[in-house]
Amino acid sequence: MAPEHAGLVARLIESGIPVTLEAESQTSFFDKKLTTGNVIAEIPGTDPKLKDEVVMLGGHLDSWHSATGATDNAAGCTVMLEAVRILQASGLKLKRTIRIALWSGEEQGLHGSRAYVKNTFGDPQTMKLLPAHAKLSAYYNIDNGTGRIRGIYLQGNEGPRALFEKWFAPFTDIVDHPTITSRNTGGTDHLAFDVLGLPGFQFIQDGIEYGTRTHHTNADTYERLVMDDLKQMAVVVASFVYNTAQLDQKIPRKELPKPKTAAEVRK
Ligand SMILES: [Zn+2]
Repeated sequence: MAPEHAGLVARLIESGIPVTLEAESQTSFFDKKLTTGNVIAEIPGTDPKLKDEVVMLGGHLDSWHSATGATDNAAGCTVMLEAVRILQASGLKLKRTIRIALWSGEEQGLHGSRAYVKNTFGDPQTMKLLPAHAKLSAYYNIDNGTGRIRGIYLQGNEGPRALFEKWFAPFTDIVDHPTITSRNTGGTDHLAFDVLGLPGFQFIQDGIEYGTRTHHTNADTYERLVMDDLKQMAVVVASFVYNTAQLDQKIPRKELPKPKTAAEVRK
């Protein structure tokens, strides 16, 4: 029910006027196939010394039930797919391997990305790290709706600030005065990397109607997408991924975190 209609019901009840609601529910439980999967793909790196190192980008492919999930998060998946297409079509030789991940189970608690990170890079509860942990440069995420990129959250990792400033610099025409904040942002798949001390970043996006209208509502459909903003995001992401792939070193990291309890990992 939309907030406006719920509000009308609430006001009628407050005024002592009886309200009758009629509902027709046709539904069933899907209990046959309860497992789901991530979608992973790569463009192999070409530099003999650096091709074993990886730059990741992604967003979550699952969505909320009341609409098709255009802004949460088909937008992010579309942008990441387009960024990879741009890199592929450019014909540029990428030193490091590029890996795109479209996660599942994000809405239930980042299950897809957390399972992937645990199986691939290490366990944040024991901090037992796998060899691939040393080979990942960075993970970039989009999951805050259709609005264009306005900056990036460093997740408390000041190391890459100067690099990111340099990488935003050529985009003065499409990213006006980008914000590079040391602050954290929560609620999405970069956290699965951050909790293990891996550089995981979510871009800052223009809010548009994400918080007020589309996030987890029945209005989250194709009509709410802003195509020019999606294109802007894809260009900026492709450029960040390219720059990360070509860098002499990996993206600087925070100090390795201490082991966490299961509850702390989920925060
Ligand atoms: Zn989302």
